[in-house]
Amino acid sequence: MEKMEANKEFIFDNFQSLLRECKSLKRKLEEDNYKERTKFYSWTKKRKKLELTEDYCYGIELDHFDKKELKQIIQLICNEILKLIRPPCKRKYAQRLICDFSLSSDDLTWEKLNSVSSSQSLPIEEKNRCATCAKKFSWWGFFSKDIDKQGNQFCSRSCREEFNDLFCDSCKKKIFDTPYYIDKDKEEGVICFDCVNTKCLGCRKYIPRSPDYFQKLLPGLQGEKNKSGDSAGNYLPLCKSCQAKKINHQAEEEE
Ligand SMILES: [Zn+2]
Ligand SMILES: [Zn+2]
Ligand SMILES: [Zn+2]
Repeated sequence: MEKMEANKEFIFDNFQSLLRECKSLKRKLEEDNYKERTKFYSWTKKRKKLELTEDYCYGIELDHFDKKELKQIIQLICNEILKLIRPPCKRKYAQRLICDFSLSSDDLTWEKLNSVSSSQSLPIEEKNRCATCAKKFSWWGFFSKDIDKQGNQFCSRSCREEFNDLFCDSCKKKIFDTPYYIDKDKEEGVICFDCVNTKCLGCRKYIPRSPDYFQKLLPGLQGEKNKSGDSAGNYLPLCKSCQAKKINHQAEEEE
């Protein structure tokens, strides 16, 4: 019983000091002009520390103590990393990765966080900050800011446009027509028409690529599972009628 109390205190102290560290890191990074990557590494280090502290928690019952600090820490780390992710359509997937603690901080790479777009953009939800670039509004900007129908505030027209922009996760080009989604239910993994289609080897007609082809673009969550049993290697792009012809042809040759 005594040992358990000591553990609780240890963890509680850890969470409190980590929260203080996060708050001071936020101030430090805001004051000076650090590069995105530097900021990203600083925050993943904090996430790693949280991860290690969380490991201790398995020994005791988490339900028995206040999780307020823990929530604040997760929120702080998540928000600060999301500010670095651009365009905002990439933030939803990134948020899921950051908050998923089964994914270790060592596996949480910058490339993974920036790999998958969603049709729904995620705004920076901090008072008096631009929803896209997270810049603080000056007193002057406070009056000139641009607000959209959802109530998102922007510092400029270009930030407002960037908020709704969609880019292909395969070729990285801006999408102007209806996009194709790798995960239709979640509307995630945005692909443009040119990338989703390929020409049939027989008649040169446009046909959709095999779904396997795009699964590799989803790293982390679903992507890992789908890596095994990849049959994309021996897939030949042929339309249905050309495929039928090929099979008939093979049958004739065998006769
Ligand atoms: Zn902005
Ligand atoms: Zn594309
Ligand atoms: Zn064909």
